[in-house]
Amino acid sequence: MKIICVGRNYAEHAKELNNDVPKEPVLFMKPKTAMLIDNKPLYYPEFTNDLHYECELVIRMSKNGKHIKQKFAHKYYNSVTLGIDFTARDVQQKQKEKGLPWELAKAFDGSAAVGTFLPITDSMKIMDMNFELKINKETKQVGHTRDMIFNIDRIIEYASQFFTLNIGDLIFTGTPSGVGPLSIDDLLEGYLEGNKVLECAIK
Ligand code: MG
Repeated sequence: MKIICVGRNYAEHAKELNNDVPKEPVLFMKPKTAMLIDNKPLYYPEFTNDLHYECELVIRMSKNGKHIKQKFAHKYYNSVTLGIDFTARDVQQKQKEKGLPWELAKAFDGSAAVGTFLPITDSMKIMDMNFELKINKETKQVGHTRDMIFNIDRIIEYASQFFTLNIGDLIFTGTPSGVGPLSIDDLLEGYLEGNKVLECAIK
């Protein structure tokens, strides 16, 4: 399986990191070894002094597909949760300055915390959902899926031009504004429409 992530998919977040709002989705990947599930903690990596959280809506593919059209994309995923795109911001900043790839900053072991998946029901409006990240019980990020620059179906259409999407692949759909640094002993909790779906401690 693979994890496809979208960068700069909320205008306010692009602004807070001084990035332009993109005209096409900005994609990068994390390997399977990045996955952190079952509320496991993340051990603060030794190669960074500026570990950041990015809370994101995550969908899981339920069908294989290539060159998926946007209007059919909703048939290719059936569950949703929240995830944390952990980012070594200091490492990423150096890579950006040098025009280098982002993997060292974003694809390391444990960099993709994934919550409990909820089935997408007919009554669930996936592009009209709110989510929230609390750290140590304090709200740090509030997002709404309607604020995505590229919606989920457009992301799938775009990504599947390049990559065959397989059952079980995950898509991290980008983070809203409010990202920031983490410290050892922080507790992250993610709420989707008020339901807690994610918990992760920093050790
Ligand atoms: Mg992200």
